[in-house]
Amino acid sequence: MFIESFKVESPNVKYTEGEIHSVYNYETTELVHENRNGNYQWIVKPKTVQYEFKTDTHVPKLGVLLVGWGGNNGCTLTGGVIANREGISWATKDKVQQANYFGSLTQASTIRVGSFNGEEIYAPFKSILPMVNPDEIVFGGWDISDMNLADAMARARVFDIDLQKQLRPYMESMVPLPGIYDPDFIAANQGSRANNVIKGTKKEQLDQIIKDIREFKEKNKVDRVVVLWTANTERYSNVIVGLNDTMENLFASLEKNEAEISPSTLYAIACVLENIPFINGSPQNTFVPGLIDLAIRRNSLIGGDDFKSGQTKMKSVLVDFLVGAGIKPTSIVSYNHLGNNDGMNLSAPQTFRSKEISKSNVVDDMVSSNAILYEPGEHPDHVVVIKYVPYVGDSKRAMDEYTSEIFMGGKNTIVLHNTCEDSLLAAPIILDLVLLAELSTRIQLKADGEGKFHSFHPVATILSYLTKAPLVPPGTPVVNALSKQRAMLENILRACIGLSPENNMILEYK
Ligand code: NAD
Repeated sequence: MFIESFKVESPNVKYTEGEIHSVYNYETTELVHENRNGNYQWIVKPKTVQYEFKTDTHVPKLGVLLVGWGGNNGCTLTGGVIANREGISWATKDKVQQANYFGSLTQASTIRVGSFNGEEIYAPFKSILPMVNPDEIVFGGWDISDMNLADAMARARVFDIDLQKQLRPYMESMVPLPGIYDPDFIAANQGSRANNVIKGTKKEQLDQIIKDIREFKEKNKVDRVVVLWTANTERYSNVIVGLNDTMENLFASLEKNEAEISPSTLYAIACVLENIPFINGSPQNTFVPGLIDLAIRRNSLIGGDDFKSGQTKMKSVLVDFLVGAGIKPTSIVSYNHLGNNDGMNLSAPQTFRSKEISKSNVVDDMVSSNAILYEPGEHPDHVVVIKYVPYVGDSKRAMDEYTSEIFMGGKNTIVLHNTCEDSLLAAPIILDLVLLAELSTRIQLKADGEGKFHSFHPVATILSYLTKAPLVPPGTPVVNALSKQRAMLENILRACIGLSPENNMILEYK
């Protein structure tokens, strides 16, 4: 059964005018390795830590600025939100299709809240805490191409033509602001697109981005802004001691107009200085150590890297299942071909390398979780290939072969073939990223013994369900397994309203 909304009644939860306050017992464990009667033993001690959560329930008017607004993801998301807001439907060869938010965790998935008369009761994910309604987001952004969003939508060849016709009047007047272009960081084949660029030194470009953000905020009367990079994949920046390794060095390099500061890092610096969440949807290392240092010192949210949309999402489900079932994946081979501008940009070796890196570490946590299957240091062969095939456009093909060792030396091979428009996978993920980033800035917490409430760590691991290579604070474990990432997010939001984690025990019926 499905319920639209619910309220928690508990001595541990207080709903007030502008806040939800919850007291939450975090059940965890403490491990010790001790000598007991001459033998070293691992001792696991259950431990309870009391936390308090405070969630500001005032939902702001949200502005979202996309870097790469005129790209396939940018115009697909913008058009999709307009279609939802305006209740647009359109004729396809199969049926009359209504706009929806399928593929969005926050808008189209549910959580189990309990059972009633022997039936499981589910509520929308978005009903856990007050969240921005995506229909009300004001979009804007930058692009190095000055093409308006209606023409960009036509170029993308993602939406059905009847939908495009209906969206055109809303999108024609949407023209991206000039962007920061540095041909050294993206493929040379993008040069012909770059007719809308900010001139000047890196410092002047940074100042222009800050000015743009302020003007957008002012003009659209939005309370909060989130900025998200959905522009082309850049090559990796070289991390160099003295250049970008600390906040001070990064600022000094900026003054010196150092060539190795990438456009994406410049946008990110602007956002951190303005205390605006910045999310990186591409694989490059925008967040060089100096930038992470800056974000931590300014307590400004950064999240990334690279949307976890298709092949990697499947991988982080399938390998988790296999390893969790005691089956040993020994070879994972992933082919992709796509014909959109992202594919063209990735056909250059330096930008492909960024993608290869972000796709390659995704099974590490699952492999290292099971030393019954893998020797220390052992890893499945893992190869990723991406080819540019213009004809298929945005309709990406992903082919994967998983070979595993099963019982008694047997071998099992699973082959997957996935075809769909890449931007239709990415757009709802972008939406979730900005909505959850905004929500997480309204949550404060403190553990027992901590004097003051504080926000989450500025490196937003809470977004990791949505990212291929989750950025984590130094010294924090990286979790790639999709079910764990979802459980982490859902359970933290549940804690904010005093609900225990979903444990799936269903003891009532045992
Ligand atoms: P796209 O090439 O259609 O769009 C990128 C846009 O960014 C272009 O319009 C380009 O002109 C603009 N641009 C490039 N450099 C810029 C800069 N410095 N400042 C402002 N604008 C700039 O690509 P897309 O298909 O929309 O994908 C965008 C990004 O998302 C890519 O890096 C891609 O790897 C990443 N990504 C996409 C998916 C997916 O499923 N679609 C998944 C993971 C990651």
